[in-house]
Amino acid sequence: MSGLILISIMSGIALNLFPRHDGVVVELIGQQRLDPIIHASGNTLQMCFNAPVEWIEGTPLPIWINRVAADSSSVTVEFDQLIVSADWALSGDSMAMIIFARAENEILLPPVAWQSPPVPPDTSLWSDSLVYAALERGEGSPWLVDFDCIVIDPGHGGRDPGAVGGSGSQEKDRTLEISLMVRDLLRIRLPELRIVLTRSVDEYVSLGERTRMANRNRADLFVSIHCNAAVNRSAHGFETYFLSRARTDDARAVQMLENNVLELDEVSTVSDDPLSFLLADMAQSIFQNQSSHLAGSIQNSFTSTFPVRRDRGVKRAGFYVLRGAFMPAVLVEVGFISNPEEEQALMSLDFRFRAAQAIVESIVEYAGREN
Ligand SMILES: [Zn+2]
Repeated sequence: MSGLILISIMSGIALNLFPRHDGVVVELIGQQRLDPIIHASGNTLQMCFNAPVEWIEGTPLPIWINRVAADSSSVTVEFDQLIVSADWALSGDSMAMIIFARAENEILLPPVAWQSPPVPPDTSLWSDSLVYAALERGEGSPWLVDFDCIVIDPGHGGRDPGAVGGSGSQEKDRTLEISLMVRDLLRIRLPELRIVLTRSVDEYVSLGERTRMANRNRADLFVSIHCNAAVNRSAHGFETYFLSRARTDDARAVQMLENNVLELDEVSTVSDDPLSFLLADMAQSIFQNQSSHLAGSIQNSFTSTFPVRRDRGVKRAGFYVLRGAFMPAVLVEVGFISNPEEEQALMSLDFRFRAAQAIVESIVEYAGREN
C-alpha cells in the first residue's frame, strides 16, 4: 500500500486521503460518529461538520489535489479534475467516515513516498490468502479452487432486534430460524462443507465481529440473512445485495437501516486501522463478480420457489457487515417484515423452510461452479 499519504492529523479528527486508480478515498476518524454534510461540485468536495475542526497546515499534497482548506466547521478538497460522484460509508471498527470521490477521468497516480510511516494493518490473518496475493499483484482473484467453508450470518440478535413487524415479529428471530435451516440443509447437501454461524442463539454480535469470524475461519463465502422493512407498508418482495456504493435511494435506505446497528456497537471496538478497512473494500471489489453471480442465483432461486412474490432484483449497497469480509459476500433480504402479509409469511415454518431451501440451492450451485 505504498500509495497512501498521510495528509494531516487534526485535533479531534484525523484526515487521510487514499488514492485509488479511479479517485480518492477521504477518511475522517473521530472519537464520535461523524455526520458531515458532503457536497461535490465541479472539482471541489466540501464536507461540513457540526463540530469544530482544526486543520494543521504544512503537509505536502499529492499532485492531483490542488488544495485542501479548512475553516472551523468544514474541510474543502479541490481536485485537479471534475468530480463525477462522491459517496460515503462508515468504516471498519472505527468511528470513521470514508468518502469516495470519483473523478471524471482516471487519475494517474504518480509514485509517492510515505510522508510518515503508516501503522501497518494486522495482516497475520490473511497474509497467505488468495485475496492478499491478488491485491499484491493488483488483479482480480480467480474463482476459489476449494469451497470448504461458509459463514452464515443471521442478521441482528440480542439487544439489536432488527426491524419489527406490525404484529411484533422481530427480524432477529426470523433471521436466526432461517439461518439454522440453511445450516441443516447444507449439512445434507454438502456434507464436506464446514459451516460457521456468526450466532446460533439470540445474542448480540457486533458487525465487525461477524466478518472477523469469517476471516478467521478463512471462509470461502459469507451469506448474511435479513428481513427488509420500509415506511411504506405495501413494499414487498425479496432482494439480494452485494457490496458496493449504493446506487439508488431505495438501496441507500436499506443500507441505512442495516448499518444502524453501528450505534449499538461498543466504543471499545474502535480501532485505528484504516488500512485494513481500505484493503477490505478493495477485496470486496475483487470479489464483486463472484458476489454478484451468487446474488443473481439467489434471486433466481427465490423466483422459482415463490413465483407470485416480487423479485426486487440484485442490488448494491455499502453494507457495513459485508465490508470487512475477505471473501465473496452477499446479504439476502428474504421479505418485508413491515408488510403485514409478508410478516405472516415470515412467521410460518413452511415459508421459512422454502426460503432456506432456495438459498441453499444457490449455494450448492455456487459451490459446484467451475473455475
Ligand atoms: Zn437487517
